[in-house]
Amino acid sequence: MYKITLIPGDGIGPSISESTQSIITATGVRVDWEVQEAGIPAIEKFKDPLPPQVLDSIARNKVALKGPLTTPVGTGFRSINVALRKEFDLYINLRPAKSMKGVKTCFRDVDLVIVRENTEEFYSGIEHYIDAKKSAAETIGVVTRSGSERIARAAFEYARKHGRKKVTIVHKANILKYTGGLFLDVGKKVAEEFPEIECNDRIIDNMSMQLVLNPNQFDVIVTTNLFGDILSDLCSGLVGGLGLAPGANIGYDAAIFEAVHGSAPDIAGKNLANPCALALAGALMLDHLGELEAAGKIQRAIADVIKEGKFVTSDLNPEQHVGTVEMTDAIIRKIEET
Ligand code: NAD
Repeated sequence: MYKITLIPGDGIGPSISESTQSIITATGVRVDWEVQEAGIPAIEKFKDPLPPQVLDSIARNKVALKGPLTTPVGTGFRSINVALRKEFDLYINLRPAKSMKGVKTCFRDVDLVIVRENTEEFYSGIEHYIDAKKSAAETIGVVTRSGSERIARAAFEYARKHGRKKVTIVHKANILKYTGGLFLDVGKKVAEEFPEIECNDRIIDNMSMQLVLNPNQFDVIVTTNLFGDILSDLCSGLVGGLGLAPGANIGYDAAIFEAVHGSAPDIAGKNLANPCALALAGALMLDHLGELEAAGKIQRAIADVIKEGKFVTSDLNPEQHVGTVEMTDAIIRKIEET
């Protein structure tokens, strides 16, 4: 029995978290979920978006599954997602994007993994207005040698472990000569330790164009925080949208698994959310725990349900009137059949 922290989140979070819990139960892996509130639900209950008991729970259990949390735009409290990544030094943000049969997209056989640096640069929260009149503002993006080195090493080690052939370093070193230059130089140096893995690099603007022209030319992509955030949404679009994109935030002492997408307030409470992104994050979590068979069961069941196309939510097929609950049930039936 695993003890795992569950942060259901807000918006569509609670319903897709419930789906993921039932899907994991169907694999036979037993989990004692320690449910914790963060973000808006925690403000309502505890007047604190990140109460100490959430941090204590993750520190104790080392593994958490997290539903999306709304971050107020422009004002209000800072992102709890970013705070959690910083608190536990979850420096690796792994975001795979893989084509699935049955999903209508422009591309076939896309199989990419974004390894995004998760703690530095423009997400460090070093920002302010320069004067009381708010006539200008600045955000400082710090890129360190040690931060660049550990994320580059994580990308190459991931490639080696998973039999991947190529790592592409994505940067803007032509303009951001110091931060981008440092990230690129360190990445190339780390690449020398992995001679069996091809390494190349692309400037972010060219990379964005190349990805939508021919994503199949890429394999593992390693990049800084902001570029990784944007490129991972782009890559999820290549394989069918945010409803299918899982993510893992991994550090030395803890790991938090979540969907790439946010709280989707536009569809919250309507039984419309696709449960797959968080369920696939649950599979990444089981993989992390060494439960490879159970992880594979979830991935295959989701692939089968999507391939059959009958019980899929409307983001995958607008003509189907299938909800979160019905798609979850179909995935569970598939798992139980195996
Ligand atoms: P979003 O990802 O919530 O939604 C973008 C679009 O994708 C919306 O049209 C939404 O309906 C759709 N969508 C997202 N998930 C879906 C799913 N599972 N099934 C079907 N459709 C889905 O992005 P947003 O609207 O820019 O952000 C909403 C809030 O979420 C913001 O406060 C943002 O800060 C937060 N956010 C949180 C996380 C996180 O918790 N890790 C990540 C991204 C955004």
